[in-house]
Amino acid sequence: MKRIGVLTSGGDAPGMNAAVRAVVRTALEKGAETFAIYEGYRGMVEGKDKIRRVGWNKVGGILQLGGTVIGSARCQEFREREGRRNAALNLIHNGIEALVIIGGDGSLTGAHILQQEWPGLVAELVEVGQITQEVADTHQSLTIAGLVGSIDNDMHGTDMTIGADTALHRIVDAIDAITSTAASHQRTFVVEVMGRRCGYLALMSALASGADWVLIPESPPEVHEWQARMCEVLHKGRETGRRDSIVVVAEGAQDRNGNPITSQDVKEVLEQRLGEDTRITVLGHVQRGGAPSAYDRIMSTLVGAEAVEAVLAAGKQDEPVVIGIQGNNVTRTPLSECLNRTWAVADAIKERDYSKALALRGGSFRQSFRMLRTLVRTFPHDPEPGQRRRRIAVMHGGGPAPGMNTAVRAAVRLGTDKGHVMLGVNNGFRGLINDEIEEMDWMSVAGLAPRGGAELGTNRYIPEGRDFYAIARSLEKHQIEGLLMIGGWSGYLSVLELFNNRQNYPAFDIPMVCLPSTINNNLPATDFTVGADTALHSIVWAVDRIKQSAVASRRVFVVEVMGHHCGYLTLMGGMATGAERVYLHEEGVTLRDMAADVEELIEGFTKGKRLGLIIRNELANEIYSTAFMAALFEEEGGDLFDVRQAILGHMQQGGDPSPFDRILATRFASMAIDYLAQQTAEEEYVSACVGQIKGKIQFTDLHDVHRLLDMDLARPKSQWWMALRDFARIMAQPEPQWDLRKAKKESV
Ligand code: ADP
Repeated sequence: MKRIGVLTSGGDAPGMNAAVRAVVRTALEKGAETFAIYEGYRGMVEGKDKIRRVGWNKVGGILQLGGTVIGSARCQEFREREGRRNAALNLIHNGIEALVIIGGDGSLTGAHILQQEWPGLVAELVEVGQITQEVADTHQSLTIAGLVGSIDNDMHGTDMTIGADTALHRIVDAIDAITSTAASHQRTFVVEVMGRRCGYLALMSALASGADWVLIPESPPEVHEWQARMCEVLHKGRETGRRDSIVVVAEGAQDRNGNPITSQDVKEVLEQRLGEDTRITVLGHVQRGGAPSAYDRIMSTLVGAEAVEAVLAAGKQDEPVVIGIQGNNVTRTPLSECLNRTWAVADAIKERDYSKALALRGGSFRQSFRMLRTLVRTFPHDPEPGQRRRRIAVMHGGGPAPGMNTAVRAAVRLGTDKGHVMLGVNNGFRGLINDEIEEMDWMSVAGLAPRGGAELGTNRYIPEGRDFYAIARSLEKHQIEGLLMIGGWSGYLSVLELFNNRQNYPAFDIPMVCLPSTINNNLPATDFTVGADTALHSIVWAVDRIKQSAVASRRVFVVEVMGHHCGYLTLMGGMATGAERVYLHEEGVTLRDMAADVEELIEGFTKGKRLGLIIRNELANEIYSTAFMAALFEEEGGDLFDVRQAILGHMQQGGDPSPFDRILATRFASMAIDYLAQQTAEEEYVSACVGQIKGKIQFTDLHDVHRLLDMDLARPKSQWWMALRDFARIMAQPEPQWDLRKAKKESV
């Protein structure tokens, strides 16, 4: 039986606990033993009670906790060979052959060195008589998988590091709050965020919050110019009526000569040159703390499980790998490659080769930086001489989703900046029928980025029959040459209606783009829709509280979440909260399932369980409703436990959009506007849906959309997340059942 050690090292990051839980449970499920190495490398060097076996239940109830329950530390001894030899001895004493190391680039550098030195360290241990040659022979190699735990998102090998999304939540919440007080007093705030060598948090939080200026290490401004350029933008913003001004500064911000730019420097410049009342807020450790976001819990769970798969499958000579994520795809990359490319960025910054630093950060970082530079402008660029200005309409369709406003703001600003005339259609397709259309200018979308809901208005009306004449009239009247529909299922169907009728109505014969925005994540040609992450985060927030209330009173909760016939929110909500059971429409609900659940609950509560959590989709089964389920469990539970139902309802559609949704909305909108502008210039244009597929933004031809859909159930025919069902079940199962199953397996 293989023994796997798991440790968290370096700076702590929210989501590390979810990763540890996934490592332990996956390993146990696969028949390996797991050891927690407490306090990072220090525990490895010290050994003794710092290295302890962990069982299934030991990692119960930690999914929602911030920080790391197995501790983290910096360890000087591990930087010396002697320290690493002691660490090797302690691993060998415990029979540990594989490690999953969760930490930043420093910790993973340490891991790389340990793995390379391993044969030498083992030989030295034999030489000094601390182990026998026989023992050494059974420990010829050490297998390592690394997970990047770092709020900075500063490492190659993964789109997102564990903790970065949560840190963005903290920062964006803070900036949203500061914006309202700044606006009340017409003040300027300088917000300093973490990131000594990496501007990710600063850049993305500025993009997500609609801040006015950002300073990051990868793209430092000219030495004598930055003050003037920043002041010009802020000053113009004030002139056009902006009441708040926010400048986001990364800890490691500097000018082109490598002189640091501190938040104090920025404050002084603003006070001296603009006479602005300026305050500094240094967010500090708040960014590291608190409960992990839904995204971090799920992502950490997926990479944690994959790390175990990787070490169990690795051959003796295999190089360590980093397990990362690209879109919804879990990836493995050689550790040395990840480290080399990460160091290359640091070197480029040190050598002041900033274009190389930006290039090495990757395409989406660069694209975000470009978008931000446009979005913060007070006025659009002047159109190119002779450029044809296209007339592009923006509208919604379907239910409201957080992030719709963010997408509209980005589309209007980026479209206007490219020289196009942007028209807003109010009230979805009803508005298009009733000619509720007006031009939107640069300032009409100011302050819209962080706001939940849909200011343009949206509804689920799908045009039919006579409506088409009215719509054609509106489109012709406003000479609309391209249409961007930001919305959900009925919005998609409405666009398809126009698209399919374009032979009969010449006005419909224009390029159209659908931008997926619904909390349900039930749209074709994209892995994620704008709004789903926010809804998921709201569900997780609510269920965390429900769980806390239930623990006090031996209670089972049946929680109902939205999604129509699509189980995305249910399954992911279950994974992020550790629910023991989820019910999806895709799988159906039978009496037999519920009877088995009752038995499991009775058994669990008899053994001292204090809380049960079941999450179901609103339409999982119309006959076996939430009320029915709760009543059934209540009756069968007798005196052992009581049951309550919690229908989360419309809170899931509300709330300000999460950083993930704001960034996704902005990226989608930017790509969609470019695409539309390009298609309007083509004779053979293509109408499409924009989406993110396996981490890449792509366009899918509207001709192909129909065959991707299950029209009766209003969801795509194939849903990627369905592959996670078994995995979610394994993670959440109680240990006794696992033991039972193992016993059964063995007896067979
Ligand atoms: P992070 O992992 O968050 O980047 P650090 O850089 O502080 O944090 O690294 C955490 C620990 O990893 C260090 O205290 C040390 O024990 C180990 N470590 C870091 N760099 C090295 C190195 N070059 N060689 C050996 N161990 C290292």
